[in-house]
Amino acid sequence: MIPAAFEYVRADSADHAIALLGGHGDEAKLLAGGHSLLPMMKLRLAVPGVLVDVGRLSDLRYVRDAGDHVAIGALTRHRDLEVDPLLAAEVPLLAHAASHVGDPQVRHRGTIGGTLAHSDPASDLPAALLALDATLVATGAGGATREIPIGEFFTGYFESALAEDEMLTEVRVPKAAGVGWSFQKFNRRAQDWAIVGVALVHGAGRTGIGLVNMGSTPLRATAAESALSQGASLTDAAGVADEGTEPTADLNASEEYRRHLARVLVRRALEEAGART
Ligand SMILES: Cc1cc2nc3c(=O)[nH]c(=O)nc-3n(C[C@H](O)[C@H](O)[C@H](O)COP(=O)(O)OP(=O)(O)OC[C@H]3O[C@@H](n4cnc5c(N)ncnc54)[C@H](O)[C@@H]3O)c2cc1C
Repeated sequence: MIPAAFEYVRADSADHAIALLGGHGDEAKLLAGGHSLLPMMKLRLAVPGVLVDVGRLSDLRYVRDAGDHVAIGALTRHRDLEVDPLLAAEVPLLAHAASHVGDPQVRHRGTIGGTLAHSDPASDLPAALLALDATLVATGAGGATREIPIGEFFTGYFESALAEDEMLTEVRVPKAAGVGWSFQKFNRRAQDWAIVGVALVHGAGRTGIGLVNMGSTPLRATAAESALSQGASLTDAAGVADEGTEPTADLNASEEYRRHLARVLVRRALEEAGART
């Protein structure tokens, strides 16, 4: 449980961090909250030669009203999201999903950018951001930015569309006030990771269903979404919630149990979202 030796550099700006990434190639890793990277390093599943600490870049820690969307700095912590009044009013699904991440210590350190860049299919916020159709902003060499629709961000198991020398700097979330929503997380112990989770917005002409732990990436329940758009009943739509997914079997659940959970949780989520509109 002791990581391999590494060099530590504290970045004094995002530009500095990105320049360090560019200079070191695949040797360097950003350190944000450290709650995913450090466990990986202790297990020697990640062996970066250089850690670029961005955890204190307070200018990337914000939740702002940006007209039709809420802009969130990549270093905003889960706890910030959980208690933010603008988010509670405009994107309550995200605030609520953040309150389900781990325990208070984890929420006070972990960041929205870290959880996205880590791209763990068992994470809660990626599913919520998929349901909400968020756009991610990546900044690269020379300050060049590009917008990545979240549907194109998760490219494989723990893999994202970020280039080695890019930093995730902002998350843009379309406002969803007045849209029904629900977050359902099934775990065996309070504050544990989800065995399966569902993040859902439905109503006011919008439908988005994100699934936690139903494949090698965070993904959307596209079959259920299209059934709803074609006027299917909630029961029929929930009945196809696992279509197109590839859940794994592990000590917590078999593949079939996860599929069953996805169908049950989507049904519950649709009912709860309906009661909220
Ligand atoms: C005990 C425990 C329980 C947990 N339970 C849950 C849970 O129930 N649900 C859940 O969703 N999560 C859970 N987590 C994960 C937690 O939310 C992490 O904080 C989060 O996944 C990673 O965020 P971080 O800021 O700590 O990232 P870090 O660990 O610092 O970084 C993770 C990865 O992202 C990269 N990175 C970080 N920031 C950026 C950026 N801005 N741009 C580009 N790359 C970046 C790093 O280089 C690294 O590869 C748990 C963690 C622990 C330790």
